[in-house]
Amino acid sequence: MTRRLLEYCRTHTPWMLELIETLVAIESPTDDKAAVDRCGLVLAERLGAMGAEVTRVAAATAGDHLVARFGPGPRQVLILGHFDTVWPVGQLARMPLRREDGRLHGPGVLDMKAGIALGMLATKAVLELAPPGDARITMLWTTDEEEGSETSRALIEAEAARSEAVLVLEPALAGGALKTSRKGIGQYEIVARGVAAHAGVDPRRGVNAIREIALQVLALDAIRDIDRGRLVNVGLVSGGSRPNVVPDVARATVDVRASTLADADYLDRTFRGLKAQVPGATLEVSGGFNRPPMERSEGVARLFGIARDVAAEMGVDLAEGGTGGGSDGNFTAALGIPTLDGLGAIGDGAHALREHVELEPLPVRAALIAGVLRRVTADRAWR
Ligand SMILES: [Zn+2]
Repeated sequence: MTRRLLEYCRTHTPWMLELIETLVAIESPTDDKAAVDRCGLVLAERLGAMGAEVTRVAAATAGDHLVARFGPGPRQVLILGHFDTVWPVGQLARMPLRREDGRLHGPGVLDMKAGIALGMLATKAVLELAPPGDARITMLWTTDEEEGSETSRALIEAEAARSEAVLVLEPALAGGALKTSRKGIGQYEIVARGVAAHAGVDPRRGVNAIREIALQVLALDAIRDIDRGRLVNVGLVSGGSRPNVVPDVARATVDVRASTLADADYLDRTFRGLKAQVPGATLEVSGGFNRPPMERSEGVARLFGIARDVAAEMGVDLAEGGTGGGSDGNFTAALGIPTLDGLGAIGDGAHALREHVELEPLPVRAALIAGVLRRVTADRAWR
């Protein structure tokens, strides 16, 4: 069956390329709802043409999310991705769509419009060659992933919770490896308050808030452990008003990452427990983890095993790896739903001017997704 799926994907590669180029040509930056909705409208039409029951889930501050269902269920496999990009409208003029040296270039092509088209071709192949019976394929294409998924998170979690598996079509790791673990990501703001005073006339009256922040920054080094994937980066610091005034306010913004739920918990408790060290100063800490870690659970490993077997049938040695970056797969994995990420296109330069996908591996990639979909939908005992 894998051979037939691959053959189908090869035959229909022009259909997929046309779809990728159509989606890239309709620019869709996260913060431009009208633009994102223009892209969503065309995507919804294409999904409808494939026979999906499409629902637009309205979002006030982001583009409308799209849910596309193929079949009645009751079992469900979820294909997840986003069609917002980091590129402003007009970027296309600076990074024109072009095929060159076996690569397709364009804003958002790798992250992740090619992934969407791969998922659609894979689904088309499965629907035609191995209809999924009691397991429906549901696609959720969201519009605010690049800005933290504030308006889509609840929807993602609700669809994942009713799914047996989640396939995330974010870009692959270098060489095509899948992502079976991702760090969780958080952000904290620490505000120190002291007492302002004239630096020359009244120095004893002052409580220096910058000194307080400096001590906290040094203390945070103690909880950082790069080897175990516990990262703490004080990336922004500000405070004070002028050189001759003891500063009464200072703040630091900290990016934190953790490989395990336990470490995320530890970091969160540590931040919430920070105490002022300078006599007379006070501290306020806000923030938290926006994306929990995606751990390589047993379910994740089993799903990867299926993908590796499908790839092997096509002569591909499929690897896996982890990444410090987050995706919506973090949310679904943290719910305990087996999640496979990085199933999208192979390429380079996400969020960079050289963003592109490799053309040659696209049909095999689509067939890989199709093969995993088929196994999981056909065999309710796969778990
Ligand atoms: Zn992405």
